[in-house]
Amino acid sequence: SKTPVGFIGLGNMGTPMARNLLKHGYPVIATDVFPESCKEFQDSGAQILDCPAEVADKADRIITMLPSSPNVIEVYTGPNGILKKVKKGTLLIDSSTIDPAVSKEMAVAAEKMGAVFMDAPVSGGVGAASLAKLTFMVGGVEEEFNAAQELLTCMGANVVYCGQVGSGQAAKICNNMLLAIGMIGTAETMNLGIRLGLDPKLLAKILNMSSGRCWSSDKYNPVPGVMEGVPSANNYQGGFGTKLMAKDLGFAQNTATSTRTPIPLGSLAHQIYRTMCAHGYSNKDFSSVFQFLREEEVQ
Ligand code: NAD
Repeated sequence: SKTPVGFIGLGNMGTPMARNLLKHGYPVIATDVFPESCKEFQDSGAQILDCPAEVADKADRIITMLPSSPNVIEVYTGPNGILKKVKKGTLLIDSSTIDPAVSKEMAVAAEKMGAVFMDAPVSGGVGAASLAKLTFMVGGVEEEFNAAQELLTCMGANVVYCGQVGSGQAAKICNNMLLAIGMIGTAETMNLGIRLGLDPKLLAKILNMSSGRCWSSDKYNPVPGVMEGVPSANNYQGGFGTKLMAKDLGFAQNTATSTRTPIPLGSLAHQIYRTMCAHGYSNKDFSSVFQFLREEEVQ
């Protein structure tokens, strides 16, 4: 029988991911600071413990899925953190999107305790998490990749080794920067077309058969009424929050600054998403930049 896997962070993504581990026959022992998320997951058959240290005491493979860098620092190195009780040889996989510098710090701290830390952020939303269709971008010691892959394939369709620790985060940050730029570009393009009197559905169809096509125009169009089953069809509820996109663009900005890399459009995208957060868009899907541009228009 399979040994238990620890799972910390039972949010929008973590809960469906951990459910897929249960489906593959892994006993899961989990924890989250929100009692409600724990209750829901307990009902699906998992054991719930009080804190990350207790999980580390009982499992020698642990996955974390937390909002951002400060939460990861707390869960690994805090007073009730994983590293307080971690066993030698434990495999620690962090799937949160965080600053790659923090992933490197966590790897050093884990190594001091005889454990192995890998970063494995994901691409794909809540739907992909439920269907086990995520893409994992994995950074860390290559010899440990197979052990990580064994668990990650239960939750994803693609598991890609990227290089040393932090390189999974690097790949994820690059993807999300391009995603943000593409989404803003799609939103302003669609809006200009509408202002010129074009029907938005027709314009989307033309873009998607032309050189302007991108994921945001084709699979996740930000204009209400153009597509079904996307956040723009549901008042921008669900999906990938503007606040999380602003966070990821902040990482892109930090890493660009520290490597002296010019990212003019990435920087501008960061400012646009931050401004949206200041105007009440934090919890709306990031495609709501279309709505934001409409509000900014001079009537
Ligand atoms: P979420 O906020 O829904 O879930 C995070 C969970 O972590 C919450 O349940 C929270 O209570 C828990 N948590 C926070 N601090 C904790 C602590 N100290 N101890 C225990 N639990 C703690 O976030 P999410 O949407 O599941 O996203 C998780 C990560 O995945 C983020 O880094 C995000 O950027 C990334 N991501 C999200 C999506 C998406 O579509 N939502 C897609 C790809 C990547």
